[in-house]
Amino acid sequence: MAIKSEPVCRSCRRVGMKLYLKGQKCYTEKCPFEKKTFPPGQHGRKKKIIRLSDYGVRLSEKQKLKKFYFMREEQFRKFFDMALRATGNTGNRFIELLERRLDNVVFRAGFGLSRRHARQLVSHGHIKVNGRKVDIPSYLVDVGDEIEIVSKELIPSTPVLKAPSWIESDLKEGKAKIIRLPERKDLDLRIDETLIIEFYSR
Ligand code: SF4
Repeated sequence: MAIKSEPVCRSCRRVGMKLYLKGQKCYTEKCPFEKKTFPPGQHGRKKKIIRLSDYGVRLSEKQKLKKFYFMREEQFRKFFDMALRATGNTGNRFIELLERRLDNVVFRAGFGLSRRHARQLVSHGHIKVNGRKVDIPSYLVDVGDEIEIVSKELIPSTPVLKAPSWIESDLKEGKAKIIRLPERKDLDLRIDETLIIEFYSR
């Protein structure tokens, strides 16, 4: 099901931080957040100085991460529940699971301009995992998995980001390999996952 959402740049302004939802534009001075750091809407400038309640702070943190991965609430919650059941630190496990989603991996490997674009590539059948077509964006990759984009012409001429150290990516061949599982420290995003745990534990 498609995600109904406001224009993505408004999402960044609403949560008060850059969520990098628009590919290359996010890394240039054309990013609207660089000029308008206050929330969108007629009263946005005033909202900037309103102090959030404890609930509001936790909700906002959850929304940031959910929007960053461009997910619906049910899916996001499902991943959180998986992290709860896993052994170890729930916050770390949660982020590691989110990073292992196929749509995220396709984006991080440089095959998509944004997570949203990468998700389309997956759901439209352009991605293979270990030689088999996989059209499920939430598919979890594992160590040794080989990801391939079937239609090489869809690869952006300039990748938005360099692939992280846990993915070996060959853009010319349109192939990537998971060389280790992602860890919390691999995610360079100012987020406090303990607030998200508190939000769902209320
Ligand atoms: Fe957010 Fe990117 Fe839009 Fe900037 S350009 S506001 S980072 S989505």
